[in-house]
Amino acid sequence: MQKLIKKMQKGELHVHLNGLASTSLVQKLLIEEKAEIPAGFNLNVDLLRTSPSTDLETYLKPWQVLRLIPRSKAALGLVIDSAFENLQSQNVTFVELRNSVIYIALLNNITISTALSWLIHEIDRASDKYSIKAGLIITISRGDYAPDHLRSLMEAYVQLGRPDRVIGLDLAGNEDTTSPVELGQLFRKAKEEQGLKITIHAGETGNPENIRDAIINFDADRIGHGTAAYKSLAVMDMLRDRDICVEVCPISNRLTGAVGAHESHPVSEFIKMGVPFVICSDNPSIHDSNINEDYLEFYRETHNIDILESMLNRQIKYTFLRGIN
Ligand SMILES: [Zn+2]
Repeated sequence: MQKLIKKMQKGELHVHLNGLASTSLVQKLLIEEKAEIPAGFNLNVDLLRTSPSTDLETYLKPWQVLRLIPRSKAALGLVIDSAFENLQSQNVTFVELRNSVIYIALLNNITISTALSWLIHEIDRASDKYSIKAGLIITISRGDYAPDHLRSLMEAYVQLGRPDRVIGLDLAGNEDTTSPVELGQLFRKAKEEQGLKITIHAGETGNPENIRDAIINFDADRIGHGTAAYKSLAVMDMLRDRDICVEVCPISNRLTGAVGAHESHPVSEFIKMGVPFVICSDNPSIHDSNINEDYLEFYRETHNIDILESMLNRQIKYTFLRGIN
């Protein structure tokens, strides 16, 4: 099965740039760029999450230092090269990369539009170099500043002439954090006025209502994780009837605790109920893993080879990238 999976051509619809770059490169950049590592953070241990965390906050510990790099455009280029090398080794031929952009601006003392142009330029270069089609999804973090961040990012996007490389918006972060109500309206506005697609991390911390909120108030085209969907028949029906694809990340879901050690993964319910989904890897380097391992984990859960064999067609159907076939 491992060999068969390795040979399969793949698309990756849910992966964070910082969770895809190799751990050795991250360590090297943190040391070379003399980043101020928080007290008690062990670079040899805390960049990896290979056993289930008690909560999402604990799982997110590596981001305490991932936010401290890159400190130049050249270093960003190395991070992106490392990400594409990983994708190439897994036979991934198209990718939607996620990044929250603003920390790059703050870290390098540059404007958000310059930070966005760095990312676009380096993804352009790597996409050609590795022959992998690629788009950027801009991630907004939940919380009080989310509307301001989204407004600033959209200004930068417009200032750069609405580059094709930017394909969508994502909302991420702890779902227990409340965000101002206007945030949903701002996401919908970006979709209507700029044609950007929307994906929302929702239902990862146990609440199916967050999935309904993502669909109704954010007009989500896809849902990240959505593991809580099975708790609500109405939400399952909504996902199926509106053809909203769930980005299932089997290994991540175990490590964040979204799916408990003794529970079966809700993807089996998605199959039963006809809820559309694709398999993705989320933060493979943090998991000391790769997307092939996620395919394998899905197979262990479901023993469904037919779905694995049709996975590429699903990824092509639900990707935000244009011209993939
Ligand atoms: Zn994610």
